[in-house]
Amino acid sequence: MKQHLKSPVFRAISEIADDCDKEAYVIGGFVRDIILNRPTTDIDVVVVGSGIELAQKVAKKLGGLKISVFRNFGTAMFKYRGLDVEFVGARKESYQQDSRKPVVENGTLEDDQNRRDFTINALALSLNKKTFGELLDPFNGMKDLEEGIIRTPQDPMVTFSDDPLRMLRAVRFATQLGFRIEEKTFEGIIAQKERLKIVSMERVSEELNKILMAYKPSTGFKLLDKTGLLPMILPELQDLKGVEKINGIGHKDNFYHTLEVLDQLVPQSDDLWLRWAALLHDIAKPRTKRFDPNQGWTFHAHNHVGMKMVPKIFKRLRLPQNDKMKFVQKMVELHMRPIVLSEDEVTDSAVRRLLFEAGDDIDSLMTLCEADITSKNEVKVRKFLRNFKMVRQRLKEIEEKDRIRNFQPPVSGEEIMKTFGLPPCRTVGEIKSAIKEAILEGEIHNNYEEARAFMLKKGKEFGLRSSEPPDSSRG
Ligand code: ATP
Repeated sequence: MKQHLKSPVFRAISEIADDCDKEAYVIGGFVRDIILNRPTTDIDVVVVGSGIELAQKVAKKLGGLKISVFRNFGTAMFKYRGLDVEFVGARKESYQQDSRKPVVENGTLEDDQNRRDFTINALALSLNKKTFGELLDPFNGMKDLEEGIIRTPQDPMVTFSDDPLRMLRAVRFATQLGFRIEEKTFEGIIAQKERLKIVSMERVSEELNKILMAYKPSTGFKLLDKTGLLPMILPELQDLKGVEKINGIGHKDNFYHTLEVLDQLVPQSDDLWLRWAALLHDIAKPRTKRFDPNQGWTFHAHNHVGMKMVPKIFKRLRLPQNDKMKFVQKMVELHMRPIVLSEDEVTDSAVRRLLFEAGDDIDSLMTLCEADITSKNEVKVRKFLRNFKMVRQRLKEIEEKDRIRNFQPPVSGEEIMKTFGLPPCRTVGEIKSAIKEAILEGEIHNNYEEARAFMLKKGKEFGLRSSEPPDSSRG
């Protein structure tokens, strides 16, 4: 283990801990990750005694590093050569029924390891000189790491009841590391799932985001489903499960389809919000599902209804209500459009409209749509991908020609008002949108001269008289 503790920060901790006659250990995620060969920069140091005091001395020894102290939590941290090093005194914890916040007392290393969530997260390496690099592994965490098992060190019923966030952490670690949740631990989650209610939605979403960013997010959502946690977090996703049959005609299971889309997106994009869009792209299918004796199953306007469901879901999960959410809405709303373009005879104006609506997000949209192809029929998949390639090509050609992507109406509302001596009113909006439509339809080109001429013509139709010369500052 010593080879992983080469940074001068460990030597400094070691010397100071010995000088002060204190035990110090590096513990938890850092130890787990170095053994697994995962990149890690967060170092947690546990001191039997005051973590803050030791941190201050180490920061001084390392050349007077800037240190942040959080007295309420008994922690201190500093940054050193790209590492985030946090110090805390060893503690013993006890929990009450209605809160995740434990009552904390000073404790031994053993107490501190007992309060950890999983055996693989309870590993500690000694930093004191005599025992430098020695592994302290009271729960056989090393074996669980080798075998890929998530297991609580204590009775899972107690561990999960004490802090129910740990149930989500179990699912998240299983997803990130590709581990399996040991049977009793799994049963503990099922038994304690209702306790999730006391966990704040911010913490829930943090875990969901980590699951989404894993290399195979479907694992996490399948585990959430199997443990019964999913309906408490994302009931809308749970509702996608199942296949209904009428007259022997079924539809696909949209839960598994969604998860496949999500997994297919992973190698193509590491944008968290595009992954959210993949997760939610068919979210309105249960609400819009109808059986038509001629057409079979239909999900009319599920993209539009889904787009409208996004803000409520984001609000409940305390996810941002800003442009990130708007991006997800846009992707959900538009996710059918490239498919239609790839199937029909495509007109230039249809391509222009898609470019206009998707704007700078057109590439993300195409990536999502390509991931949305989950047919088992290889020939079909190849055909769709080929068609999408053509759509991408058309998008490129038309964008080069018409510059629609960052479309700014060449004539502003202000110019319309000035030209016709109008106050802000409906007519101004109507002329403006007529100009936009004319450009998208290809009646006029996307430039100032043609747009102004069109505006004058439109004004005439509205019975307006122009009083202003053209804007000469425009090129
Ligand atoms: P990641 O950085 O990916 O979240 P991590 O294991 O480093 O993984 P942290 O949240 O930084 O996670 O926690 C550091 C350590 O603190 C964990 O390895 C674990 O030992 C302990 N820990 C964190 N959260 C809990 C919890 N809710 N219950 C018990 N122990 C926890």
